[in-house]
Amino acid sequence: MATTLAAAMAACGSSEKSVDQGSGATDNKGALIGVTMPTRSSERWISDGDNVKKQLEALGYKVDLQYAEDDIPTQTQQLDNQITKGAKLLIIASIDGTAITTQLENAKAANIPVIAYDRLIRNSPNVDYYATFDNNKVGVQQATSLLTGLKVLNADGSEGTAKGPFNVELFAGSPDDNNATFFFNGAMSVLKPYIDKGTIVVKSGQTDFKQAATLRWQPKVAQDRMENLLTSTYRSGAKVSGVLSPYDGLSIGILSALKSNGYGTAAQPFPIVTGQDAEAASVKSIIKGEQYSTIYKDTRALAKTTVEMADAVLQGKTPTTNNTTDYNNGVKVVPSQLLDSVIVDKSNYKAQLIDTGYYTEADLK
Ligand code: BGC
Repeated sequence: MATTLAAAMAACGSSEKSVDQGSGATDNKGALIGVTMPTRSSERWISDGDNVKKQLEALGYKVDLQYAEDDIPTQTQQLDNQITKGAKLLIIASIDGTAITTQLENAKAANIPVIAYDRLIRNSPNVDYYATFDNNKVGVQQATSLLTGLKVLNADGSEGTAKGPFNVELFAGSPDDNNATFFFNGAMSVLKPYIDKGTIVVKSGQTDFKQAATLRWQPKVAQDRMENLLTSTYRSGAKVSGVLSPYDGLSIGILSALKSNGYGTAAQPFPIVTGQDAEAASVKSIIKGEQYSTIYKDTRALAKTTVEMADAVLQGKTPTTNNTTDYNNGVKVVPSQLLDSVIVDKSNYKAQLIDTGYYTEADLK
């Protein structure tokens, strides 16, 4: 993936300005910044970490970048270490958004500001800012592309010719990730009217977030659940026409379960399967006509926004935010900067992913 600083700067066209509070800024040039990411098992977090590190270093900061392989005690220990090492600011993409309260208390006691990265940190007053995408919109986009794939909607959003009924199954993300609820609720806001009028039928009856959730976003958990649905709900020969999947890794697991149950042939094509993150493996699957769509979230732009926030805070300025209502973490509304995401399918992947320099053609071969 192309990740030059220039590309990152170009990727985010916003013109936000920081407001100088004149608050006696200390000279934090060369300060250490702790960056914690959830896992290397998903490509997006590797890009996020690389981009944040590179952009902070370009501004002269030192960076301690850590991955916790989705293990909560590992992440809390990494945060403890960063505080001990004298980090002047923490950028955290949490695994469980409720599990780092003690670390945040210690950070507060040491006057270390905290920026939540992509995932909201919950139940703590000690979160200063939040940089993310418009997570509700991501869910809306996932459901919209599912309906477009089924031809219930046209590409321009108008009502399409297909009236169903279509059998659709719903998957959600990890219950300890605040984003997962936003994605699911956003998607359901679009799907519900079609479920109510019978165009979409969730044949398993599993329409609650809890039933659809996938702990720690694990592909194998989604694959097993899809297998179970196919051998129970669809045992009598009914076919699945669509699957709402909130993340590319899950989509790959879901497609694999479908394949081992006879889908993916000329006689029985794959259902419309959505995704998120535009990971290379899934974009290749889209090009092959297996996965239908994904949601592209430019990690270069998220890194840029976060680095600007961090730099402003370390200079004693107030970073720009564009949302002060939606992200209540249970204790306070965390001022947030929300970025835009884009539906990507076979028709626009070149323009969105290659022409923007996010991938080279060779990355998708
Ligand atoms: C991120 C998604 C990602 C998911 C699984 C979420 O918090 O917002 O982009 O697909 O985690 O890693």
